[in-house]
Amino acid sequence: TGRCTPDNAGGNVKVVVRVRGFLPREIAKDKECIIKMDPLSQATTLLVPTDLDSKSRKVLEEKRFIFDNSFWSHNPEDSHYAEQEDIYNALGEEFLDHNFEGYHTCIFAYGQTGSGKSYTMMGNQEKPGIIPRTCEDLFQRIESNTSPHISYTVRVSYFEVYNEHVRDLLATPNRSQASHPNYLKIREHPVDGPYVKDLTESAVKNYQELLRCMRRGDASRTTASTKMNDTSSRSHAVFTIMLKQIHHDMQTDSTTERMARIRLVDLAGSERAKSTEATGQRLREGSNINKSLTTLGRVIAALATHPSVRAKSRKDVVPYRDSILTWLLKDSLGGNSKTAMIACISPTDYEETLSTLRYADQAK
Ligand code: ADP
Repeated sequence: TGRCTPDNAGGNVKVVVRVRGFLPREIAKDKECIIKMDPLSQATTLLVPTDLDSKSRKVLEEKRFIFDNSFWSHNPEDSHYAEQEDIYNALGEEFLDHNFEGYHTCIFAYGQTGSGKSYTMMGNQEKPGIIPRTCEDLFQRIESNTSPHISYTVRVSYFEVYNEHVRDLLATPNRSQASHPNYLKIREHPVDGPYVKDLTESAVKNYQELLRCMRRGDASRTTASTKMNDTSSRSHAVFTIMLKQIHHDMQTDSTTERMARIRLVDLAGSERAKSTEATGQRLREGSNINKSLTTLGRVIAALATHPSVRAKSRKDVVPYRDSILTWLLKDSLGGNSKTAMIACISPTDYEETLSTLRYADQAK
């Protein structure tokens, strides 16, 4: 997989897939792994069993998909096992290079609940994911800068989109908000495009401060989600780092600024989009999630198919406005930006895994 360059056709979109290991409940049920990956061709193969419940099942057919990367995070004993670090080295690092070159970037984790989206994006203390690694690498690069001509500022925001509403995850809670989640309004700037009005943007000076914001936002997401019965799998979490590079021209004593937005997104569980038996609130949630995920898929696919379409004429081709998520991420999708989707899959769930692989495949 090559590096993305502006004139490399289709090179602004990368699609990768990652399969996780068995969970204890899958081991307890003696589940079989229905995924194969070939590290040479980067192919992911789904084995279609004849009988989904029987243990003595036979493989009926194999469905093969090729992605930019197929990450095998199933069995740590295998030589091609991909650790958190490998995912960062293959994707995160390259995207941060683009940010320092002045591009906006956007990395999404897509997949059913329990497929490894937040493990991949956030990870845990021992095995940090893409977000904390990006934060650390960002400040390592800034702190190793020795040029007197360049300085940097970093700001961060963290919000979630739930049921087509935006909630600020970094807002300082107050009493009036405690019982009513404070939904923010979306506005459109004539030049800069859509933005969230009154969204908290915290300036951070080092990795520790950035990490604290990340943890605070995560805690706010979890608290709300416990109160409202696990909304986190039904909301899209958007972590944004704004990197400003300031170039000082000593001769003319002037400065020029360049801003890159780093978007790292943990999407709602894709199974939530199918609300076959849901009614009322659940039905509304399901159809909103469906709208966001379908639109996102169409937007990414349109970008991969029309990489050379410039921002102005693109609005006819790319349906940004069809969902709040894609509308808000418009500046980070297409134009001066690079996009990656990490499709997270379970090694045991045939239907959901096939649906995720198909989604990822059409986004290429
Ligand atoms: P999601 O965010 O898609 O709902 P999670 O990231 O919470 O899923 O993952 C579900 C469970 O699987 C968690 O316990 C997580 O720690 C574990 N898990 C997911 N991916 C991996 C992986 N690559 N290696 C080890 N454990 C993983």
